[in-house]
Parts: sequence; structure tokens; C-alpha cells
Amino acid sequence: MKDVEQVPLQDGFGRQLGDLRLSVTDRCNFRCRYCRPTGIPGLPREEILSFDEIERLARLFVSLGIRKIRVTGGEPLVRRDLPLLLRRLAGLKGQGLQELVLTSNGSLLAPLAGLLRRSGVDRLNLSCDSLRREGFKALTGRDGLDLFLEGLKAAHEAGFRGTKVNCVVIRGLNDHEILDFARFADQQGLAVRFIEFMPLDSGSEWGPERVVPAAEILSRLRESLDLEEIPARNPAETASRFRLPGGGEVGVISSVTAPFCARCNRVRLTADGHLRTCLFALEETDLRGLMRQGVEDSELLESIRRAVLGRERGHRVNEPGYLRPGRDMAGIGG
Ligand code: SAM
Ligand code: SF4
Repeated sequence: MKDVEQVPLQDGFGRQLGDLRLSVTDRCNFRCRYCRPTGIPGLPREEILSFDEIERLARLFVSLGIRKIRVTGGEPLVRRDLPLLLRRLAGLKGQGLQELVLTSNGSLLAPLAGLLRRSGVDRLNLSCDSLRREGFKALTGRDGLDLFLEGLKAAHEAGFRGTKVNCVVIRGLNDHEILDFARFADQQGLAVRFIEFMPLDSGSEWGPERVVPAAEILSRLRESLDLEEIPARNPAETASRFRLPGGGEVGVISSVTAPFCARCNRVRLTADGHLRTCLFALEETDLRGLMRQGVEDSELLESIRRAVLGRERGHRVNEPGYLRPGRDMAGIGG
């Protein structure tokens, strides 16, 4: 019989989980209109998992078949000594982890890029929603476009390849820049991912009329560009991807208008140690509480398995009576 932790983590609908979104802080130096537009006080420090606690849980998840960890937040680079944690997480590659990715708004990246690379981060996902200084400021609350561009350049110089730029598209705010982003991707040899605006902001920006459907994004791009569809690399891939004439790439993520829940292989851990089995979940499992009660690894593994077995079939954003989770995107870890 296999050891209990070697049986892959599978939910009640037969989906095998392979991807952990690990939030290291709920704090952020930006005020994105679609995420956390006002400065909500961060969680008290004692509620945030320590590096030892994070590493312990990450190791358990890897023992359960998680192959990719994406470190996120809040803004992960505001967490003190993050490279030390990343080095510890990268150490899990000897135990089955295949990829360590960092998601960031890029504003603090330039001076850190080399250290992050040396710490074992394989790839970066950077967020940028406007390529115009004023637009960037209006969307993020910070005059940060130059810092983002410097971070992107520094990442390339530090040896990062396959960097993706995430752009949340909001009707009336930045949808007039869709083509600019695609051209930017092609010039820079990058992949841009257009993400549908999801009802996870803590402000009052979201409404169905604000969502630009992925299909509309693609048809707008096709008016000016030849898009060559790229076959999916694996069944859990969330983006539909297209090659651009100059070698760049665009992708669209249709989380709202064409949900991919049936293929979703992700699980999330919040900065205060709560396991979420869906981005939109209304319930969480308090792994921090268990750890601080002093339970053994076997009990943590059992709790993770139980939570995953009860995983929801999919989100209900498009159903009447949809209820938002109690945390916003920065608090969940996008
Ligand atoms: N601060 C980092 C950043 O901005 O990349 C990491 C955390 S952020 C919550 C992760 C991703 O979630 C970003 O790409 C951001 O654009 C996306 N995001 C935040 N709020 C969103 C929303 N309401 N709908 C869709 N994507 C959202
Ligand atoms: Fe901060 Fe990222 Fe949310 Fe913007 S999207 S407020 S950068 S956590």
C-alpha cells in the first residue's frame, strides 16, 4: 500500500490538484481599483504564517502531488526577507516540486531581480494594466509605470525567461489599450494575459457591464493582428493562447464568461494559513490554527485531504444570489 501522503490530492469530482497559490502577505503598496482600492489595514503580524510554518505546509502539499507553487499576495515583495523564504521553497524541488513562480506588481522588482533568480524562482508573472503613465496611475493609485518597466528589464537581465504580464481588462478604463498591450508583447517577446475582471474587489467597481469578455478581447485583436492559436500544454491550462506575428504571445483568461472550473487544479493558502479550495470559496480550513495547536503532520495532511474532497464543483459568479467571499483578491492571494 502507498504511504498516505503519496496518494495524489484529488477532489470529489476527480480533479487532481497540482498547483498551489501561496500568499505570503495580504499587504500591498498599490491600490488597484479592481482589487483593493483603499488601504485596508493588513492582518496583524502574529496572524501571518512564519517562514517555518509556510515551508512546513508547502512541503506537505508537495508530498501530496503539488508540482507548481506560485508565491503571491498582496504584494509578495513587501514581505521582509522574501528571498530567504523563496530559497527554502526552491529546496522542495528535490522533493517533487517542479516550478516556483512569483506574481508581483513589479514596482519593487528592479533591485531584487538578480537575488530572486539566485534564490531559485523559475519564472515571474507581473501585473500591468496600462502602458500609459496616467492610466497606470488611475488604475493602481501609484505613479509606477516606470518602476514596472525597470523591473521587467531587470528581470530579463537577471536571466528570467517566459515572463508573463497580467492585464485585468475593465470596460471604460483600459479596454482601449488591448491592442497596445498585444503590440508591446510582440515587441518585447513576452506573453500578455488578458484577465476578465472578477467580482473580488473590495471596492464597488465590479459589475457585469465592466467585464470585457475574452471572446470580445480576441475579436478586437483579430481586427488588427493575425493570431495563431497555440495548443494547450496541459488540460489545466486556464488561458487560451495565441502566437503573434513577431514571436510574442497573447492569452485570454475567461474566468467569468467561460469558467474553466471543470479543469481547475489549484488550491490556495492565504497569508494567515487558511486553505481555500476555490478562488471564490465561502469556506476555508484553518491550517494555522491546527499547526499552532501542535498537531502532527499526519493530522494536517488529513485536514488538507478532507477539505479538498469537499471542494466545490465550480464558482457561482453567473448564478443569481452569488455571494462574494469575505476576503478580497489581495487577501485571498490571486
Ligand atoms: N500584487 C501582485 C500583483 O498584482 O501581481 C500579486 C497579487 S494580485 C492579487 C494577483 C493577480 O490578481 C494580479 O495579476 C491582479 O491583476 C489580479 N487581480 C486582482 N484583482 C482582480 C480582479 N478583481 N479580477 C481579476 N483579476 C484580479
Ligand atoms: Fe496590490 Fe496586486 Fe491587488 Fe494591485 S492587484 S492592489 S498590486 S495585490
